[in-house]
This record gives sequence, C-alpha cells and structure tokens, in this order.
Amino acid sequence: MKTRDPPEKEVSGKQADVSKDKLSSQPYITHIPENLNMSHHFSSLLLSCDPVATVLEVTSLSTLSVVSWLYRVQVQGSMSLLELAIGMWVLGVVRRLYNNYLEAVYCTFPLYRTQPIKEHMLRGERDLVGRDREQLAAIVTQDRLTFISQFSLDLFVYFSLPGFYPAHTITTTSALRRVIQLVLNHYVMSFGMYWTHRALHKNLWLWRNIHSVHHWSKHPLSRTTYQDHWLDNFGNAIVGHIFAQILVPLDAQMFWVSRVLRVCESLEKHSGVSGYFNLVHSVQRWLPFAQMPHHHDWHHEGHKGCNYTFSSLGGLWDCVFGTRKTGRAARGVQTVWDEMEQGRYSFDTKYFDGIYTCFIPLFALSGVVVNSLQCSLEGRTKVRRRRIKGAGCRKHQHFGKSQISNTQEEVSVP
Ligand SMILES: [Zn+2]
Ligand SMILES: [Zn+2]
Repeated sequence: MKTRDPPEKEVSGKQADVSKDKLSSQPYITHIPENLNMSHHFSSLLLSCDPVATVLEVTSLSTLSVVSWLYRVQVQGSMSLLELAIGMWVLGVVRRLYNNYLEAVYCTFPLYRTQPIKEHMLRGERDLVGRDREQLAAIVTQDRLTFISQFSLDLFVYFSLPGFYPAHTITTTSALRRVIQLVLNHYVMSFGMYWTHRALHKNLWLWRNIHSVHHWSKHPLSRTTYQDHWLDNFGNAIVGHIFAQILVPLDAQMFWVSRVLRVCESLEKHSGVSGYFNLVHSVQRWLPFAQMPHHHDWHHEGHKGCNYTFSSLGGLWDCVFGTRKTGRAARGVQTVWDEMEQGRYSFDTKYFDGIYTCFIPLFALSGVVVNSLQCSLEGRTKVRRRRIKGAGCRKHQHFGKSQISNTQEEVSVP
C-alpha cells in the first residue's frame, strides 16, 4: 500500500527546487550543475555573459529601428531599412533561443555528446570548452568588435549595393526552383568559406593572429560559434554571405530563410551534440557528402594538427578537395560517406596548401564576383540610358544577368 511522503521530505524538496533555481540562474563557465531538468538549463543561458555587448546590441538595433521607421529609408530595389532592422532583431532572438536549446540538450542528455564525457573533466583553470581566463577576456573584446564590424558591414552593404537585400516582390518562380536556388546559393557560400578557412590554417600568420582564437575551444559548445577574432567573422561574411548573394541572388523570403538556416546550422556544428537533436543537419543529411556536427567537432578536437574538414556547411567541398575526416559520432548518425573509403572521389589539391598558393582559389572567386558586379553595373547604366531616351524599359538589374526578369516586372503581376 502506498503512503504519502512525510512532510519533512516535501520541505526538503522545495529547498532542492530553490537551490536548483539558484544554480540554473548562473552561467556555466566552469561546470554544469547535475540533476537539473531541461527547462532549468534554459534559464541560465538566455542572455550574454557580457552586459556591455548586450547593451551595445540593443542600443544599436533600437536606434536603427527608430531612425528607419521615422525617415522611411528605402534604397531602390532593396527592402526597407526597417525590414532589415526587424530581420536583425529576429536573427538575434533565434540565435539566443537556438543556442539555449542546444546547450540544454547538451546538459540534459550526456549520452549524445560527441566527445566522451570524461574528456570534459576540467583541468586547472579552464572553462567548459577548454579556454583559460586570459583567453576568455580576449574573447569578450573580440565579441564586441565582431558586433560593431558586422553591424557596420550590413549597413554599408545596404547603402552601397542596391538590391543586395532584395525587395519583396510577387514571384512567379516555382517553389522547387526557389529551393534549388537556395541550395546552390549555400554551395557557393560554402565554397568561399571553405577556401578562406583552409587559408586560415595554411598561412601561419593568419593562423597565429586570427584563426587560432576560434580553436581555443577544444570541446565546442554552441556558444563558441561566433567566438572568433573579429576579422575571421568579418572575412567570412564577405566571402561567404555577400559573394553568394551576388552570384546566386535569392528573393526576399528565401534570403531570410537562408539566414535563419545558417544561424541554426552554425550553432549545431559547435553544439558538442551528435544526433537528431540537431534539426537542420538532420534535414540536410540526404544531400551528397553531407556534413554533420561531428565532422566539425573533430576539426576543433584536433587543434592545429587538424588540417582537415574545413567546410562551413554542406560538406561537399571537403570531399571534392580531399580534406574530409570523419571524427567521432554517436552511433547511428554517421553519413554514408563516413563509411566509404576516404578520398576515393577527391582531387589532389595539395598545391593550394602553400602559405601563398592557398589564396589562389579566393582570388579566382573574387574575380568572378567583381566581374558579376561590373556586368550588373553596365546593365543598370544601359537601362538608365534607355529610360532617358524614352524607351520605357522597366527592367531593373541588380546582380548578374539572372536577376533581370525577377524584380520590378514581377511587382506588376496581379
Ligand atoms: Zn579551423
Ligand atoms: Zn568552429
């Protein structure tokens, strides 16, 4: 026969809840408190541990929102500045919520961690991902610089490249074609980021002064995703996102879908969790040579010795250029490629491992982007001349030839 717990136990249960709340309200820098449920983990991770960075972000975005709303700023061919500000707010919220979800999963389900639990035991004065106090202080500075540089870059691009942030149009393009465009855009983005990442490892000056900051974390957690040298983040934004949107432009809806997917994908890659909790990677694992979070986790685990697995997303380029290494993964989440012979379908690209030759693919890609921008500029000049002559052409070109029929003509579709 069941009996009620004695009252003393209920009191001690309440005390335990109070202490749980206390534990969960502190950020986990050096240890994870045990026996907390999922929701308790959420509360401790919700805000940045650097109040200055948080104030900087909230103040900048609030000012941008108010100014763009008051003055109704809109560059021709682009979405309004207010929409851009709202997009930035949404991405900031998604980033925090998804980061908390992934870290709560990491804390609650230790069996799904990519690296064995014993390797997370603390040695000396290190944080959860393996950084000492001096490195943590340097990361705080880099975080602030990253926000300032990315925010300035976004505004610079908005005003200097009309149409880069695409205006909302009524599109007649099929859903399938738009999805294919999204996938292509991500492969182009991945190509630029792959060669940038590889150069950051192969050029010793870049490694020592820039990229090693990101590799201070040996057991990454999702919070370490953007904890790089600010120039690392700045370069990736240009070579990845900006180049991809110039070469394979996305419409406004797909543009924001792409940004949200990228945020989630980047966070998952550093989550330290291997399995179906990684929602975006689980969706894309059917793509050829798909990269899963355990591949990038191994890239961190190997430190500088790990001159493999450079892909930011997709994984294709690692397989094509012969730099894929599997690493560790929880059982059942390996991809088909993990079980196949490494390097069977790849090209020998060792020539690009030199301290200077590593830049050749990036120069080539930059040349294609500059050419594409020149074409679009010439196109716009011709359109302007025709308008002056009274030809009445309503076509409006942004980036490359593929965009000619996708903009203002579509606005007029009933
Ligand atoms: Zn790296
Ligand atoms: Zn990383």
